Amino acid sequence: MSGKIRIAGGGLSGLATAVQLARRGFAVEVFDRHRGGGGRFAGGWQVLENGSRDLDALDELRGMGLEPDFATVPATRALFLDGLGGEHQVASAAPYAYFVRRGGPDGSMDAWLRSLALASGVTLREGVPAPADAEVVATGPRQADGVARELVFASDLSDTVAVLFDPTITPTGYAYLFCLGGHGTFGVAQVRRLAGLPRARELAWRRFRDVLGEFAVRDGREHGQFMNFSLPNHLRAPDGRWYVGEAAGVQDFLFGLGNRLALRTAGLAAAGIAGRWGARAFAASVQRPMRTTVAARFLYERLGRRAFAAFCRRASRADFRTLLLRLQRPGLAKAAVARVVMAAWRERRGCRHAGVCGWCRERER
Ligand SMILES: Cc1cc2nc3c(=O)[nH]c(=O)nc-3n(C[C@H](O)[C@H](O)[C@H](O)COP(=O)(O)OP(=O)(O)OC[C@H]3O[C@@H](n4cnc5c(N)ncnc54)[C@H](O)[C@@H]3O)c2cc1C
Repeated sequence: MSGKIRIAGGGLSGLATAVQLARRGFAVEVFDRHRGGGGRFAGGWQVLENGSRDLDALDELRGMGLEPDFATVPATRALFLDGLGGEHQVASAAPYAYFVRRGGPDGSMDAWLRSLALASGVTLREGVPAPADAEVVATGPRQADGVARELVFASDLSDTVAVLFDPTITPTGYAYLFCLGGHGTFGVAQVRRLAGLPRARELAWRRFRDVLGEFAVRDGREHGQFMNFSLPNHLRAPDGRWYVGEAAGVQDFLFGLGNRLALRTAGLAAAGIAGRWGARAFAASVQRPMRTTVAARFLYERLGRRAFAAFCRRASRADFRTLLLRLQRPGLAKAAVARVVMAAWRERRGCRHAGVCGWCRERER
């Protein structure tokens, strides 16, 4: 590839790829249809998960040369609500995640990467569609493998991290309410029964209100989103274009956590474009963990309310980060389950994911 690279999409994966290529001497242009960065999100809380690897998520960024200079709130506690009316406090000694802001100008991951990109000499072309033949595709999801709805608001609610696992309210998904420093984010996500999302939203909101009591909701902004999941067989498509982040389908199949994987694929793609593709690192740090989450998703969808409640009880008795690390550690048994599930769930009627898709689940029709 020449020394000039055009990147379609200026979210996490696009900007992180841009920074790393610019530092390697490439002339990089990033095109985003929104102005100001983080256009897909409304300034709400997301997590940068810290329970899939021993290596701390912020240290992983430092290892990529991306000093994490954005607002983070370490997550060491949460309230889990089960479908039997149970409430479970979970806790960990080290953060099981970091709360981060997505979208918005102040302290968000998007604002941080945007300023790193500008400081590295990247040219940002914002408010314009990306050229169809850009060398790197980082445009996020392209179809609804799952859907989510979020409300971002200001509130007087004290700091709260609450997650609802009730398959009768959010079948195949979950709901969350985070309020930190007066900034609230309430969301519902589902990967099956997509049409049921509005009802799930109402029921989940009511449940959080019942448990947390009355609280103010000011300046609410609601938005809906697609989510993509597919297991890439490479980050470079047969036509030579590179795909990163959700455009490549990389998110964990269980909860749709894609931020850390988006940044990781940016590092792998930048190295690949510079002629140092790390096939082993890609297999070990993207494909294998994603496969493990296919097995976890299978179990998640088969569990009833009682099993969820049992899981929440178990989580409340363990160190939560240690439990997450154990559950997500790839192993022979999990690989065997994943192989069987992937054979049964495989999309057979042709997928519409990017050219790097190696496996995806049959769509709900
Ligand atoms: C509601 C919701 C909550 C989530 N919460 C979490 C969470 O807590 N933790 C987590 O790890 N993950 C979470 N995710 C997933 C996570 O947000 C994504 O995996 C991650 O943002 C993917 O990064 P990306 O760079 O691939 O895409 P994005 O960050 O979405 O960036 C894509 C960019 O491409 C631009 N774009 C799109 N099309 C074009 C075009 N044609 N031309 C030009 N520009 C274009 C968009 O404007 C956008 O800026 C959540 C997702 C949703 C929908």
